[in-house]
Amino acid sequence: MLPLCDFTSHRKKKGMYWQKDLETMTASQLEAYQLQKLKETISRAGQSPYYGALFKKKGLSATSLNAVENIGLFPMTTKEDLRGNFPYGFLAMPLDNTIRLHCSSGTTGNPTVIFHNRHDLDSWANLVARSLFAAGARPTDVFQNICGYGLFTGGLGFQYGAECLGALTIPAGAGNSKRQIQLMQNFGTTVVHAIPSYLTRLHTFFEEMGIDIARDTSLRLLVIGAEPHTEAQRQRIQELFGIKAFNSFGLSEMNGPGVAFECEHQTGLHLWEDAFLAEIVNPDSLEPVAEGEVGELVMTTLDRQAMPLIRYRTRDLTRFLPGDCPCGRTHRRIDRITGRTDDMFIVKGCNIFPMQVEKILMNFPEIGHDYLIVLETINGVDEMLIKVEVSRNWFAGELDALENLRRRIVDEVRDEVLLTPQVKLVEPGALPKQEGKAVRVQDLRKSEGA
Ligand code: AMP
Ligand code: ZN
Repeated sequence: MLPLCDFTSHRKKKGMYWQKDLETMTASQLEAYQLQKLKETISRAGQSPYYGALFKKKGLSATSLNAVENIGLFPMTTKEDLRGNFPYGFLAMPLDNTIRLHCSSGTTGNPTVIFHNRHDLDSWANLVARSLFAAGARPTDVFQNICGYGLFTGGLGFQYGAECLGALTIPAGAGNSKRQIQLMQNFGTTVVHAIPSYLTRLHTFFEEMGIDIARDTSLRLLVIGAEPHTEAQRQRIQELFGIKAFNSFGLSEMNGPGVAFECEHQTGLHLWEDAFLAEIVNPDSLEPVAEGEVGELVMTTLDRQAMPLIRYRTRDLTRFLPGDCPCGRTHRRIDRITGRTDDMFIVKGCNIFPMQVEKILMNFPEIGHDYLIVLETINGVDEMLIKVEVSRNWFAGELDALENLRRRIVDEVRDEVLLTPQVKLVEPGALPKQEGKAVRVQDLRKSEGA
């Protein structure tokens, strides 16, 4: 049985790894382990109304599996399948045996709901603890979790994970920046988890309050994730705070945080392959991409009992990174998420991902941390308008004086996305701020056309 989170024994942990046996398996050991877990998963999934009917119709069962690659025999599962079978169609055990549910952040239609039993929650907490440990967090740390608690998985996911690690864990929740900083000072917070767009905002409060992070706090490590961000944005956050920021990837359909995480070397995110079987496919043909090519991440849970998911299409675009990681962990690494298949928008025939625009903007020191891409139809023609906040350190009170900067942004974005954008500079702090994940694109075209 997989060693689950033992909430008492980890304080003594001293080695390099949280679970050396599992994290450093050879490729053949990992494959054998995965095959066994996959068979168990398929058997469990068959108990749910949805997969039960599907497997019967297709003549599939755990006995169809002789190798991990045979997963390709099974159909993929989409968010629409989850929504269409809301709320219990994927539940693989009596409701009595489940103890928690989480929902994914969605804006329209039924949310996607994931159920967990005791085993699932322990397994999840363990994966988050393992992830934090890999990034360098230790039981002696004071961990402040700055994100929404509730249906969003970042709150409770990191709470139980950091407790499993053995760290003193502060369930700070989202927002209230001055209080966040007070908590850090009162309790000597050493590790913070927050979404990247919030951390850049939080930094302005440190400045306003005249608090020097290195001198006046004990912060030593940041964990950032839950929303797309570029390497340039990470670099900015590291420079602002003067400490390293580690990328954390997860999605509620695969529990939440603790799916893939950067280790201390920051060379991509180790995807925990003992708990998830990952494939990367071409989103159109659904065929596997060539080794190292970018495609859509498709995942199968290997250690979830209440609600296993088979070949779930995440919509997230990434690639497997080549080579070994110096940390010795053998689980493959994925590249940072470059976008989602449903993030892409088309203007005048050009396919554009928001992260392409962010990559350019974040290289301008004169630009602040927030931007908003507005798509609108003007005189029957689609246009892309980028509203960009000027950096506080740069802004001298006159937007008109920055025409030269504005033109340079237009040129550089055009070179990247092959479309001439309209760029509007706005004052620092002028753009709307969200409590949760940042909204980077506002598409007004459909409502205008309607
Ligand atoms: P939710 O299930 O609501 O928590 O949303 C999960 C989605 O957030 C993922 O499918 C990704 O699109 C996005 N996401 C989570 N973590 C990251 C990350 N580190 N980098 C980029 N996108 C992320
Ligand atoms: Zn590593």
